[in-house]
Amino acid sequence: MPVKGLGEYDSNNIFARILRGEIPSRRVYENEFAVAFHDIAPQAPLHVLVIPRGPYISFADFTTKASDAEIAGFFRAVGKVAADLGLEAPGYRILANMGEDAGQEVPHFHMHLFGGKRLGAMLVAP
Ligand code: 5GP
Repeated sequence: MPVKGLGEYDSNNIFARILRGEIPSRRVYENEFAVAFHDIAPQAPLHVLVIPRGPYISFADFTTKASDAEIAGFFRAVGKVAADLGLEAPGYRILANMGEDAGQEVPHFHMHLFGGKRLGAMLVAP
């Protein structure tokens, strides 16, 4: 069931629990602002999720409420993860689902990082 992307943060969502270490994840990077780990159901040879440490529901929530330092730190982390994983030369795709129409399922802002093959059309028709 897609989430709305705005409203009250649910501190028991799955990524909040991953951040607290209550649920295991295959972490590839973390810093003061962000944590990156492999998606449990990868949709490309390389599919990593990057999430801010702060309690933000969605892209809209993050970009309106997070501090400049959190926003800069988060996006720098996304770029560093992609570089560290060797994706700069072949290329990669980043994507964030925001709210119901995009099908966002986990109500903690995250960016998907896809790579490892030619990724094809940006949107696949349903
Ligand atoms: P969304 O649809 O919200 O943009 O993406 C949520 C993503 O989280 C999906 O790609 C899904 O596979 C991933 N995911 C859901 N539950 C877990 C989990 O427990 N661990 C990890 N590593 N990924 C998860």
